Amino acid sequence: MDKRTMCKGCGMRCGLVIEFADGKPTKVKGDKEAMSQGFICPRPKALVFERTNHPQRVLYPLKKVGQRWGGEWQRISWDQALDEIAARLGEIKDTYGAEAIAVHASNGFACSPVTRRFSNLLGTPNQMEDGLVCFMNVRKIEEATFGWPAMFSDSENARCVVVWGGNPANSHIHEYHTVKEGRKRGAKLIVVDPRLTETARIADIWLQIRPTSDGALFLCWLNIIIQEELYDKDFVAKWTNAPYLVRSDTKKLLRESDINAGGDPERFMAWDVAAARPVAFDREALSYRSPDVRTALTGAYTATLASREKVECKTVWQLLKERVADYTAEKVSEITWVPADKIRDAARMYATNRPASLVFGMALDGIGRNSCQAIRARAILRTITGNVDVKGGSVIPGPYPGKRFDSQIEENDKLSPEQKRKLLGADKFRLISWESYEDLWQYQQKAGYPNPFPSAYTCYAHKPAVWRAMLTGQPYPVKAFLVVGANPLVMSTNATLAFEAMSKLDLLVASDIYMTPTTELADYVLPATPMGIESPELNSVFDVANFVAGANGALEPPGECWTDWQFLRELGVRMGQHWPWKTVEEMYDWQLEPMGYTWKEFVEKVRWVAPPKEFKKYEKAGFGTPSGKVEIYSSHFEKVGYDPLPSYEEPPQSPVSTPELAREYPYILGSARPPLFRNASYQELASIRKTRPDPLVIINPETAASLGVSEGDWVWIESPLGKRIKQKAKLFDGVHPRVVFPDIGRWYPEGPAPEHGVWESNVNVIINDDPEKFCDPIIGSWPFNGLLCKISKV
Ligand code: SF4
Repeated sequence: MDKRTMCKGCGMRCGLVIEFADGKPTKVKGDKEAMSQGFICPRPKALVFERTNHPQRVLYPLKKVGQRWGGEWQRISWDQALDEIAARLGEIKDTYGAEAIAVHASNGFACSPVTRRFSNLLGTPNQMEDGLVCFMNVRKIEEATFGWPAMFSDSENARCVVVWGGNPANSHIHEYHTVKEGRKRGAKLIVVDPRLTETARIADIWLQIRPTSDGALFLCWLNIIIQEELYDKDFVAKWTNAPYLVRSDTKKLLRESDINAGGDPERFMAWDVAAARPVAFDREALSYRSPDVRTALTGAYTATLASREKVECKTVWQLLKERVADYTAEKVSEITWVPADKIRDAARMYATNRPASLVFGMALDGIGRNSCQAIRARAILRTITGNVDVKGGSVIPGPYPGKRFDSQIEENDKLSPEQKRKLLGADKFRLISWESYEDLWQYQQKAGYPNPFPSAYTCYAHKPAVWRAMLTGQPYPVKAFLVVGANPLVMSTNATLAFEAMSKLDLLVASDIYMTPTTELADYVLPATPMGIESPELNSVFDVANFVAGANGALEPPGECWTDWQFLRELGVRMGQHWPWKTVEEMYDWQLEPMGYTWKEFVEKVRWVAPPKEFKKYEKAGFGTPSGKVEIYSSHFEKVGYDPLPSYEEPPQSPVSTPELAREYPYILGSARPPLFRNASYQELASIRKTRPDPLVIINPETAASLGVSEGDWVWIESPLGKRIKQKAKLFDGVHPRVVFPDIGRWYPEGPAPEHGVWESNVNVIINDDPEKFCDPIIGSWPFNGLLCKISKV
């Protein structure tokens, strides 16, 4: 007998066919009738044959006996666990307020919008995820710039593909095949990466960049493309806010209300060349007062305000030109370590081979202080080359309009404005705030988006701020922590601080499929079953995509494992929350109802719906931004108080900013996920683990020789935080002699409880999360890459 299901081993959601004999799975193959057309990678075989009956699987609810982190557990029933947890959460809420309960969601095998529903109905704003170093930055910046993320690359129709800070050969294998096919028909390939990856090996140009200096390189490409007039002049003039005027006194975009008393504060002004005065753009009509108005793209102009005061204004394009002018190839060569000629060749290749796709990769989310502005610069680069939402370019795909959105599950209106304002870290990092979320949404509606993006993916508590609130009680106490399918002791930066913080809690509850360092610290551990393969999943990639796919699980969850959906619902109901669906299938019935299907009909007869690709959708109602255009000068950044143009700053630790420290810690730390692993997951699965049994730090052979290190030696990696970890040396001349690349997410599932080796090789032990010095000042993400370290033989 065959069963069809969907793999959630990574974000791709490939269709699977599992063959059974005597009730046991015997074979796993790709489903040719699924959207993935039969493709699978090696992971699902491990997930089917090794995960469900793994000897370390948590099978029953467990309650801590004795001391926390003591390793002793008592099996209890689900009813007892839920009753006790609900009672203790209720006490904490009554004593300290709902915000004293933090919730860690995960999209790995749970569903974050469902967790958000639980948090909202509980009344706490403090839900978090690992997204601040994994795609949230891209989503938010692209929402602010394009009105919705340009998440898909139409590489199969591109004449040039740029892979920047990613290795699709490892992480997006479908994209890698598309890139390789493109090479066969003559498409150019540029790879920007500190490492000579498999993808870089087949590139026309490989730019071996210094980790975290990406922002400078983007600004340099912009400079070259503007100076050499390689940009798409029509698109820039018509579909970006490049012609809009910015006041020199306030640094704010000039509005109609500045010029005329009673004018519209939402209408932006350009310079009307013929009339020699500002002219307003009507966002609803997507035009100036007449189609014949010709606006200036460059220059400075004097506008007379409603008060009769005169103020100098420059166009956005003029300001962008000035901003990038210093970033010459020679200067940026010094910053990035990439030869100037190669920088110029790559920028010209990208700009002159249109359409070009600049493939989405997540490396930029983890570069610390430069993260948001580098992603802004990337978005502007796509824009001025006319590669946004075109065939062969970077496509704004979604959302699929037929089904009810994941954000409708969340019940965001149920969280009061007062509680929303308490979101930890949002006062400092305002792009994670509810204010930012709600502001973006009001303009997305104008472009026809029927519902907002799920807040669970764009509006989080700042983890370093949560750890500090747990430790100090400031700005208010956090006393309980509900960890749903995540392993923050391994995946959160400054792991020692996270451990100290979690150790102080009155209540720590974790649901997971295995015992991990995080679950070992908990008071209650709840047995979970992952979505896909073991339970039903309806998926539309967080509603960022314009498709919908669904499948039932194929394997029975073992023991008393529940989906996180069931756990959160049952706990929520005990706490008086309204959950109208008794099962996840009922919720999917509700989501599919507008499409005319029940869940059963959908998985049996339809399985996936993907409308044909559509391009230039902005021509109908504009982009989902305040101006209706791509915002090179971000009015959202202006509103929430950040520099509306992209910028670059030297990282807080580097040979340039801290030369003395760099003498003691001479190497720059990159970090990368090992192939087939998924962050901290899959190390417990033997067939995946054997591909990388020990954690590896990649070191240039020249560097290793100078340190007396040979292939396979264990080495210490030590950071200025005063902490060190060890990994095994892997010598590779495709990494710069001054850069080392350790594995991220390494712990030892087989190691003795309760630590499971969490302090031994986990790169997060040595990474500093100081919000003032190391986190991105806009969104708060911390650096996985770019800090200093030293290496010595163990
Ligand atoms: S893990 Fe592999 S098979 Fe599963 S969804 Fe990802 S790429 Fe597809």
